[in-house]
Amino acid sequence: MKHELPLLPYAANALEPVISQKTIEFHYGKHHQTYVNNLNNLIPGTKFEHADLVTIIKEAEGSIFNNAAQVWNHTFYFEALSPKPQNLPSGKLQDAINKRFGSFDSFKEEFTKAATTLFGSGWAWLVINKENQLSIVQTSNAGNPLRDGLTPLLTCDVWEHAYYLDYQNKRPDYISGFFKLIDWKKIEQRFAAL
Ligand code: MN
Repeated sequence: MKHELPLLPYAANALEPVISQKTIEFHYGKHHQTYVNNLNNLIPGTKFEHADLVTIIKEAEGSIFNNAAQVWNHTFYFEALSPKPQNLPSGKLQDAINKRFGSFDSFKEEFTKAATTLFGSGWAWLVINKENQLSIVQTSNAGNPLRDGLTPLLTCDVWEHAYYLDYQNKRPDYISGFFKLIDWKKIEQRFAAL
């Protein structure tokens, strides 16, 4: 099947000043698009030619895995952001965060630590683990928790291409900004759909 770049649910300049139009133009318009193009070029003639993205992520290795996971990861990342976000979790997700982490602030601290300390390129995630509990994990490069039997709810891209144009080496400032753009309504929808 041919994989497509999903449309962003907001304009390229909508996340300014936290994430600039220029960053979106490169990150979504060039990087995300390139992963889609690479995947479409790699799969013809392989057993993944007609597979959906999640199947490819769970089963493929090497370049096919890397590009498929990067397509999925970026879509999941961009779709959780909004220029008019619901700033905090509510309802059942709020309860689950408070139960697991003590408070939203403690969760934010732990997630920020995971995103800040990830060495090199990768992703920080809030997931549901195999014990059906919320958990924070890191993955390197294109890594995706689906491969480990975990269910992602939220991710932060900490590859330098996600923030370098706006923040240069100041990854913590980008992560702090990222928290201002998370639309918790969308994370609640993901949580409710499980
Ligand atoms: Mn990225």
